[in-house]
Amino acid sequence: MIFTPKTGSFEGMKSMNRATILNMVRLEGPISRAQIAKRTKLTPPTVGTIVQELMEEDLLIEETGIGKIQGGRKPLMLSIHSSAFYAIGVYAAAEVVHTVIATLDGEIFMEKEERMQTPPPLEEFLQLLSRSVSFVIEESGAAPEKIIGIGVAMHGLVNSEEGTAIFSPHLQLENIPIQQHLEEKFSIPVLVENDVRTLTLAEGWYGEGQNISHFLCVSVGLGIGSGIVLDNTIYRGPVHSAGEIGHTVVDVSGPKCHCGNYGCLEAYASESSILEQTQRQLRFGKPSLLHEIAGDKELTMQHVYQAVAEKDPLAMEVAADAGRYLGIAIANITNMLSFSKIVLEGELFQVGDVILDPLRSMVEKRTLRSVRNATTIAISPLGKKGMVIGAFTLVIDQMFQAGTRQETKYKKSSSSLSS
Ligand SMILES: [Zn+2]
Repeated sequence: MIFTPKTGSFEGMKSMNRATILNMVRLEGPISRAQIAKRTKLTPPTVGTIVQELMEEDLLIEETGIGKIQGGRKPLMLSIHSSAFYAIGVYAAAEVVHTVIATLDGEIFMEKEERMQTPPPLEEFLQLLSRSVSFVIEESGAAPEKIIGIGVAMHGLVNSEEGTAIFSPHLQLENIPIQQHLEEKFSIPVLVENDVRTLTLAEGWYGEGQNISHFLCVSVGLGIGSGIVLDNTIYRGPVHSAGEIGHTVVDVSGPKCHCGNYGCLEAYASESSILEQTQRQLRFGKPSLLHEIAGDKELTMQHVYQAVAEKDPLAMEVAADAGRYLGIAIANITNMLSFSKIVLEGELFQVGDVILDPLRSMVEKRTLRSVRNATTIAISPLGKKGMVIGAFTLVIDQMFQAGTRQETKYKKSSSSLSS
């Protein structure tokens, strides 16, 4: 995403200037004060005062630059002091909790994965989260006062304002107070967001969404979700449910979806529906290498991928169908919102052209020409790890925004430490 300072109230001006300078250094650094003033159109004294404050907060460092400026002095170049602070990211997926700690430039230096054999009850799930966070703090040796926050990527419906998981389909739990639990336990700001939206944020910071103001990130796994970035902002909608591309209808007379509707994309192209369709075709006695590949074991997506790689017609047909339906759904939403880029995430896309060709061809056929010419399709370079990268990026992203809750809390915690 491109950083664009938002216009705000007069009181918000300083906070906005601070965010503008921080982002200029992040994106363009090492950079001198004079260059910042020139690029941001802020006055040199304003830049000087804010840079001084940011250096006192240990967020910026300066070093002598290369070359000479008029008067023979070497310019002092500013950079983000990346290793001065850390952010923790937690990704609570369907069966695993992945926890990492990273520096401000996104370098992960300690991580832990814990598998959940069976969906745990509420209290046990919350304790699993806090146990994982404690582990990375202790094992990494990070000083707690250097940790600016904990970001949690949670599957299912999430209220990011309240920091709760409204509904988790895999855990079958409602209203999980994730933010409250972790803030009470660690006294560090906690942010919670839906996992596909954290992936989208990570793509904007480190992946295919960099410098793109309007893009769609589609994630295909057991279900299908998407993150929508409009004008550099992730769109959540009034009830936090925006992006449910999996439940857009791609065939009015299609099969029943688990949401109760008929013909949803998820009933055609999610991993669970691909498996169901493949099993059905095998039961009908269609010849396939899958009989040998799976043997007497239960059919998995790995078997299907292997069959596609071995050019098994049945597996290739099911994958191509999934690609076509994904293409229809993507074309519909692209016609509606006009994205510059579509970023695809999911193991499914590793089978390559078998799924991507019909997907691209459907997007090509079903989008308006003006939209089509301005849209590209890319595979997520971050993959599943994008969810946890996005989780800690939630915290870092807020630190770089003007006048946000995180900045207020962050400032509060630094002043309480120094007092
Ligand atoms: Zn549905």
